Amino acid sequence: MELIASLERELQQLDRQSLRRRLRVAETPCAPRMKVDGRDMLAFCSNDYLGLASHPLLIEALQEGASRYGVGSGASHLISGHSRAHALLEERFADFLSPHIESPRALYFCTGYMANLAVLSALAGRDADLFSEELNHASLIDGARLSRSNLKVYPHGDAAALEQLLKASTAKTKLVVTDSVFSMDGDLAPLPEMLRLCEQYGAWLVVDDAHGFGVLGQNGRGALEHFNLRSPYLVYMGTLGKAAGVGGAFVAAHSTVIEWLVQRARPYIYTTAAAPALAHALMASMDIIDGAEGAQRRSHLRALIAQLRSELNLQRWKLFPSDTAIQPVIIGTNEEAMRAGAALYEQGFWVPGIRPPTVPAGTARLRITLSASHTGQEVSQLASAFNLLEAFA
Ligand code: PMP
Repeated sequence: MELIASLERELQQLDRQSLRRRLRVAETPCAPRMKVDGRDMLAFCSNDYLGLASHPLLIEALQEGASRYGVGSGASHLISGHSRAHALLEERFADFLSPHIESPRALYFCTGYMANLAVLSALAGRDADLFSEELNHASLIDGARLSRSNLKVYPHGDAAALEQLLKASTAKTKLVVTDSVFSMDGDLAPLPEMLRLCEQYGAWLVVDDAHGFGVLGQNGRGALEHFNLRSPYLVYMGTLGKAAGVGGAFVAAHSTVIEWLVQRARPYIYTTAAAPALAHALMASMDIIDGAEGAQRRSHLRALIAQLRSELNLQRWKLFPSDTAIQPVIIGTNEEAMRAGAALYEQGFWVPGIRPPTVPAGTARLRITLSASHTGQEVSQLASAFNLLEAFA
């Protein structure tokens, strides 16, 4: 059929550009040591930053949640799917972030992608100006499109350029939207300056802390704690499939903002509520994140990050100015990046190659992500394997 043949031709074009992605099948739980497509690998690719994805207490809590609440919610939140497990979890997030958000309330979403669509489409309409950082995650870009607001993209990390745009804006509703930790570079947005600008120009600051929540800050309160921010202008999104080890996301903001989302955010209203058992399991992850074990895991992760950066041969490898668990190594062309990734894979190290359009052309990279469940020895093994790679250009 011509329709199929035409898709086949497009797929072959992706092959020629080294842009075809392939799915690998993980046969064991997410952990540093995994069986992938039948092979034992040492993985440096998950976002399981605190190593909670296969933590015994979370597995137990998920089982207990299923026994207590059943498996499915059965309906969307506003019909009958909003269970006590969701409500308790939302209270927990509001309480956890109360040092940073005034009159806090939180809302639990099935995914971070949906949370971002929800926030941007509910807070910004056709008349709004939406200021988006150029390296923002795809879900923020899609949320901006869904909102149909006037999109203004500012250069990476450039608060001065953002100020020029805010100054020129006459829109009544303004939203500044940014990742806190950039998911492909690992660096941080200049949030204190951005918040100051938002307060000065009367704009919401929407912070996607997918890679910061649970990891950054002494107590895991993420980028808001790291930078010590507090403001009614903040709309905070944290994902729960990364450091929290389970899945879903939450938005925390002033209670009025959250009530507006409940009334107006279509990605919240028109979808079946996540399984309550997941919310119950997330209470156990919050106990860990908020307790001594979380602090200990964060400090081990910080040590691993410093170790990797000191052990990679910087004469040879270009790293980003990143102090986070995301440590990309720039390779160059798509082909070179895939070849370097394949060479590591052959030696049993799983480090994914990231290519355009996810990152700009010519900056294809191997993106190492570290987890508190890695050992110092495993990080040393990876650094040595990198340093001994044959030239692949
Ligand atoms: N924002 C950022 C910065 C992300 O990296 C991701 C996931 N990779 C998301 C949002 C989406 O979150 P989720 O996976 O929960 O949909």
